[in-house]
Amino acid sequence: MTRAFYIGRFQPYHNGHQYVLEQIAKKVDAIVIGVGSAQLSHEQQNPFTAGERILMITGSLQKVRIPIYVIPIEDIRRNALWVAHVRSMVPPFDMIYSSNPLVMRLFEEEGILVQSPALYERQLHSGTEIRRRMLRGEDWEHLVPPEVAVVVREIDGVERIRQIARNDCEECELQR
Ligand code: NAD
Repeated sequence: MTRAFYIGRFQPYHNGHQYVLEQIAKKVDAIVIGVGSAQLSHEQQNPFTAGERILMITGSLQKVRIPIYVIPIEDIRRNALWVAHVRSMVPPFDMIYSSNPLVMRLFEEEGILVQSPALYERQLHSGTEIRRRMLRGEDWEHLVPPEVAVVVREIDGVERIRQIARNDCEECELQR
């Protein structure tokens, strides 16, 4: 039984994450997915709650035939202790998959096998680009699995992002 760990913020979950996880699912017996920065939501960089991100991920991976465990993980203020924090929260795993340099470094230093999957059309498939498109009213739905678009509609997510941005600007005006 080989269990792999994959962590991300998933703000939002997109086709790059989906592509990588579908590849990982062909190689291992189970995947543990950590929803990082679980405490954050309703911010421009982090608009979605951990629960909303869990809905996006589980909906998108319904057809994957191996067990998938999706666990929210809050940030801690000490990088040196973060791997122990993660391991205290999730089922045991044999290796991690990540292309985030800090995540890779922290797990490597703990002697855990790290695989680094190639990025899938990174220019387009990035949370930053998708949130930018949502804010500006540009097309974004083709960059995420259909189930993610359903969740974003259900929670009125695009309007949330726009409203948060408006609030930010009002604060900027007040600070001038
Ligand atoms: P992310 O959602 O940006 O990315 C998740 C994974 O997907 C990464 O491995 C990334 O390289 C990959 N990815 C992104 N775009 C891709 C694409 N187009 N194709 C293929 N793969 C793609 O999330 P992240 O920033 O990597 O998440 C790391 C989490 O770990 C954050 O929540 C961070 O706060 C947390 N963390 C916390 C601490 C701490 O609390 N001290 C320390 C380290 C990391």
